Amino acid sequence: MLIDTHCHLDFKDFSQDLPEVINRAKDSGVGIMLNVGSSVEGSRRSVELSKAHDCIYASVGVHPHEADRTDEKVFAELKTLASSGKVVAIGEVGLDYYRNLSGVDAQKKVFTEFIHISKELGLPLIVHSRDAGRDTLEILKKEFPKGNACGVMHCFSGDKEFLNECLNLGLYISFTCNLTFKNAANLRAVAKEAPLEKLLLETDAPFLAPQQYRGKRNEPSYLVFLAEELSKLHGVSFSDIERITNHNANELFGFNLKEASRIAYGIRDSLYLNITNQCTDNCYFCVRAFTDFVKGHKLKLDNDPSAGEILAELKDIDKYKEVVFCGYGEPTLRLDIIKEVAAFLKKKNKQVRLVTNGHANLINGRSVAGEFKGLIDRVSVSLNVETKEKYVAVCRPRFGEKAFEEIKRFIRECKAAGIEVEVTCLDIPEADIEKCRALTEKELGVDFRLRRYNVVG
Ligand code: SF4
Ligand SMILES: [Zn+2]
Ligand SMILES: [Zn+2]
Repeated sequence: MLIDTHCHLDFKDFSQDLPEVINRAKDSGVGIMLNVGSSVEGSRRSVELSKAHDCIYASVGVHPHEADRTDEKVFAELKTLASSGKVVAIGEVGLDYYRNLSGVDAQKKVFTEFIHISKELGLPLIVHSRDAGRDTLEILKKEFPKGNACGVMHCFSGDKEFLNECLNLGLYISFTCNLTFKNAANLRAVAKEAPLEKLLLETDAPFLAPQQYRGKRNEPSYLVFLAEELSKLHGVSFSDIERITNHNANELFGFNLKEASRIAYGIRDSLYLNITNQCTDNCYFCVRAFTDFVKGHKLKLDNDPSAGEILAELKDIDKYKEVVFCGYGEPTLRLDIIKEVAAFLKKKNKQVRLVTNGHANLINGRSVAGEFKGLIDRVSVSLNVETKEKYVAVCRPRFGEKAFEEIKRFIRECKAAGIEVEVTCLDIPEADIEKCRALTEKELGVDFRLRRYNVVG
């Protein structure tokens, strides 16, 4: 299922065939549509649509074009409307200096008042900003000085600098089908930089139909073209984009989607096994401190799973290139489980990889690399920094200073056991990347991979 987080099905463009438009959306997998109000009348119709259709949610707001006609009466009516139907947001609101259909001062005043209403009602903002980036940011920064904006920059069309400003404010970023236009190379370059964890999908129908239908009316069923484009840009599968953007939309708008914890979870063409939530490190950047989710999968478990529970999740392994012991903690805390499950996977001729902090010997009180022979093909060890002092400061290991040398010993033993090894480091400010690379390639003689801070999974 995909979620179209911004469409205008209340516009007269859809008055002749709305049932067919909704059915086509459902047939192409668009299960939720957020109909966005852009005028008082449009907001009323938006709420009506949300009452009439299970799959439609509503937002209420007035487009900046309407700012000159937006007074106290309008604010009062929209606040009342916001508590009816399935209203999940305030918007679209913002600034539009492209057509300047309302005065700049009025636009700023109305935008600010809508931000106050969104805070008062606890509803996220859907922000429209066209040719008004500087003023939009100035208002948002004043209203959200701690970078705690709850909302989305819709129909994103800015450059990388504007993207970073929006992300620093805490906003989600929503692209429309204009990302598929032949001449949208610059926008695609920006979209590639936007973290998956902050992306939303929208059509903004009836506007901006995808390249395949350029110049025609857009409609929610065309959202698939946008999802395909984003999956190509980010090098992930269509279902990855689907799951991640659904999770993001659910977090922001609260559609009450149920998201169950996952033991086995697919990303791209790898199947990851989440076998424990415990760890012997406490890295300051650990994703577990910030979220229960990785790439849209809920990884927080009530209990560590048994071998039987993990094996029961391996029905679909043929479609994956490799199976990875990884998850949301340190897998070698459960060495017996790794060995049992890996033996099953090797009987099925699967490539098996272990992602670890390299504490396996310390955890298990013996050298364990030999036990991985014939079970694990490749080990990815996160070392992150190049000295034991830095390791203690950054990863805060339970084993203290001796952890760093023991990780290096584990790496050497894996290599000696004929297992492929790669060392990963993050581009965190504490790490001297060239020294990390030299340590890995020259001293340890294994592969080096640099990972981006804040990109997990
Ligand atoms: S080693 Fe991985 S799971 Fe453990 S604390 Fe560090 S980042 Fe988190
Ligand atoms: Zn807009
Ligand atoms: Zn719109």
